[in-house]
Amino acid sequence: MTSAQGSIFIVVAPSGAGKTSLVAALLQAEPGVELSVSYTTRAPREGEVDGKNYHFVDRAAFEAMIAAGDFLEYAEVYGNYYGTSARWLRDRLAAGHDILLEIDWQGARQVRKVFGEAVAVFILPPSLPVLEARLRGRATDSEEVIQRRLSEARMEIDQVAEYDYLIVNDDFDQARLDLISVIRSQRLQAARQLQRHADAIAGMQTPR
Ligand code: GDP
Ligand code: ADP
Ligand code: 5GP
Repeated sequence: MTSAQGSIFIVVAPSGAGKTSLVAALLQAEPGVELSVSYTTRAPREGEVDGKNYHFVDRAAFEAMIAAGDFLEYAEVYGNYYGTSARWLRDRLAAGHDILLEIDWQGARQVRKVFGEAVAVFILPPSLPVLEARLRGRATDSEEVIQRRLSEARMEIDQVAEYDYLIVNDDFDQARLDLISVIRSQRLQAARQLQRHADAIAGMQTPR
């Protein structure tokens, strides 16, 4: 029996909306979903681990990977390169795993051109002042970096109508449950369940 190909979930948000925190909570609740670890030229933040949060590389190495066609998508975001490994993603999908991409809106568009069935989720902050407070509260970025990220937020939020699901991250636990619900409903779709439980279902149906 051939196993079903996995699903792709794309999670996009303006910086500071809570995407990373929500995705971490989702992965705890749904261990079957795997996170794609992006390549980036951004410097690691305090506490970030190479290979876990990102693969941290310099610009020359990133540009060599672009030239080699290693990326499914890549984009320049807030002054740094970020990209998704094409090979890793295709291997894991083919093996039947569900994959989550935490990427920016430009990357989301590129991925949906290749995988039209990918499920795209946009995380909204409750308001722009709250977004600013969260970016400051996180205390991981310089004032200049915070300003740059805030100045892009409106343009990012202009794109929300392109997404399949919108989640407002006001109360964290509510937003966490909303994100889990999106992923679960996709995983419960009949076409996928019929493959996953083919033998059990056949055993309960009228013998042919
Ligand atoms: P944060 O997620 O906003 O806290 O900040 P990061 O510095 O981790 O990410 C910066 C931006 O780059 C975000 O919009 C990410 O979604 C985006 N990003 C991260 N990885 C990738 C990637 O592999 N490809 C693309 N296109 N964007 C990425
Ligand atoms: P992103 O990955 O979208 O940039 P983070 O997950 O790093 O966002 O969240 C930005 C900051 O906001 C973090 O300090 C995080 O702890 C905080 N945060 C996230 N969600 C909420 C929420 N619902 N209420 C209050 N603070 C939150
Ligand atoms: P941060 O630098 O705060 O970790 O991430 C900033 C932005 O880069 C976030 O919006 C994040 O989703 C995006 N990002 C991270 N990895 C990728 C990636 O592989 N591709 C794209 N396109 N965006 C990414």
